[in-house]
Amino acid sequence: MSKGNIGVTSDNIFPVIKKFLYSDHEIFLRELISNAVDATQKLKTLSSVGEVKGDLGDLRVRVIINKEKKTLTVSDHGIGMTAEEVDKYINQIAFSGAEEFVNKYKDRTEAIIGHFGLGFYSAFMVSKKVEIFSLSYQEDAKAVHWSCEGDPEYTMEETIKAERGTDVVLHIDDEFSQYLEDATIEGLLRKYCKFLPVEIAFGKKKEWKDGKEVELDEENIINDINPAWTRKPADLTDEDYDKFYHELYPTQMEEPLFHIHLNVDYPFNLTGILYFPKIKSNLDVHRNKIQLYCNQVYVTDEVENIVPEYLTLLHGVIDSPDIPLNVSRSYLQSDNNVKKISGYITKKVADKLAELYKADKEEFAKKWDDIKMFIQFGMLTDEKFYEKAKDFALLKNLDGKYATLEEYKEQVKEAQTDKDGNLVLLYTNDPDAHYTFIERAKAKGYDVLLMDGELDVHTMSQAEQKNEKLRFVRIDSDTIENLIRKDENAKDDYSDEQREGLRKAFEAFIPKAEKLNYYVTCEPAAADALPVFLTQNEFMRRMKEMSAHQQGMSFYGQMPDQYNLVVNTAHPLIQELAAKMTSEQVSEEVEKKEGEETKKETVIKTVYSLANEDERLKQLIDIALLASGQLKGEALAKFVNRSVELL
Ligand code: ADP
Repeated sequence: MSKGNIGVTSDNIFPVIKKFLYSDHEIFLRELISNAVDATQKLKTLSSVGEVKGDLGDLRVRVIINKEKKTLTVSDHGIGMTAEEVDKYINQIAFSGAEEFVNKYKDRTEAIIGHFGLGFYSAFMVSKKVEIFSLSYQEDAKAVHWSCEGDPEYTMEETIKAERGTDVVLHIDDEFSQYLEDATIEGLLRKYCKFLPVEIAFGKKKEWKDGKEVELDEENIINDINPAWTRKPADLTDEDYDKFYHELYPTQMEEPLFHIHLNVDYPFNLTGILYFPKIKSNLDVHRNKIQLYCNQVYVTDEVENIVPEYLTLLHGVIDSPDIPLNVSRSYLQSDNNVKKISGYITKKVADKLAELYKADKEEFAKKWDDIKMFIQFGMLTDEKFYEKAKDFALLKNLDGKYATLEEYKEQVKEAQTDKDGNLVLLYTNDPDAHYTFIERAKAKGYDVLLMDGELDVHTMSQAEQKNEKLRFVRIDSDTIENLIRKDENAKDDYSDEQREGLRKAFEAFIPKAEKLNYYVTCEPAAADALPVFLTQNEFMRRMKEMSAHQQGMSFYGQMPDQYNLVVNTAHPLIQELAAKMTSEQVSEEVEKKEGEETKKETVIKTVYSLANEDERLKQLIDIALLASGQLKGEALAKFVNRSVELL
């Protein structure tokens, strides 16, 4: 038996391991199993080149709990280690300058693991003693037993071991007794080892029989050693992809919409499958995340810095040995490989979408509502993606027809270009609320888009920036005549005084509300349009909507809501009201008072008092409010009563 000191310059390295790695101590299992899998893969490689002869036998890696002895063992039949190798790989671990480094990076656990490749030593995070029993594949090799109790001292001696390979035995610390529970270990194995390339066995398969769980003879295999992403796309059917999707997300019931198989080996190595999920609600969005693997070993599902943000909404796996795993997040962002990977994924996703769109436009349109959010998010945040996506990003009109912006522009160009050459695209985010506006637009032969998505306002602003002379206007933001102005303003033959009088009269009766302003304008809309209606300025409303999502725009968010109350001077009812107000009665009043006040003021006063006597004016205002869903409470009750009286 030999004794020695592990090549660590500081006695403190084990406490350091325990202390600093505490937060993530469960990774010890991943590290040990990775080593076991590596040793097994190496053996297969040696066998394939003829360096190991004969049948390799059972190659399963086994994880075994012994509750009495309080041990957890990871056992493999890989290449094993000779005493010299244990000395070289385990004892002389690269802890050079450890003390200095640890002091420097005290609070950066990730960096410590990354720097040292703590692999095997992470076992000491949860163990008071670790033993290795190993028999190398090499001819005449002698088995070796290594033991260490969490201090720099170890013992090494020859031992008897019948089978080739390595058993790592962890004597679990009392405070980590959860690692002696089947459920904990099985959970960790399913998390980290689900797709490892060598079978991992943990206990026996269980089955329910006569209301009891019984153990079968068959071993309980944790992993799928040939997960779909490691296979060739040509060998996989759509069903295989769907099946794998459910393997990844066992609680997900919905089928994915489609998938993208990633496969590149230059200038970096990356494989994976991304799925476009069917998102039922916002809550779903971040429940199932993209999982990152490194050679089939699960690493994390926090891929924010590796794939562009909008793609984190996708599901699936990415496997790359080229992504630095144990470095800080800010470092990841500036890493060149990571940047390239992110660019590659963006391009692949865009190409796949373009291909799907080209192959079957109708089928693509059917999926549009489900994938719209990813695509708009991508277009808004990634210029490169925008350039590609603009050719397959769709608009949907109220008849449920889809078109790209370019196609749509062609379709409506003739009817909806105004006198200044602006192409005006009309939209609604609430067809029920905007019913009368929509009817008027349709009567004019205009088309109306449905823009009720969360990102639609931003998407429209982006399209306006990118397309000269293109404007989106919500259908209720002005009279249809004003939205798409075909000629100079239509004129009515009201005098300035009449108009002013009418405006004042209406203004006097508009209800006052907090954070809500109404402006009265008198203009000739159309004889068959409503006599009075509300519009809301497109620019102001949009700024308010966007401010809800964006920092630095709260200024707009705090502004009161502003509406125009349009008094349609072309409507017979308004004409009648106006006529009444300018009748001889008004002239008489004006003549009586002339000299005392200016003519204009007199007219306004008179109109006001006449309007006050005419219940129809209040009724008209209420109808306009009602049509926009703004008549509520007491005002609504008054309206109802007045309506009954008028009948
Ligand atoms: P890493 O795996 O990052 O190299 P480790 O500390 O986990 O670092 O392991 C050090 C070395 O010990 C490995 O590279 C390998 O050569 C050897 N080793 C560890 N576990 C085993 C095992 N189960 N079978 C054979 N060799 C092993």
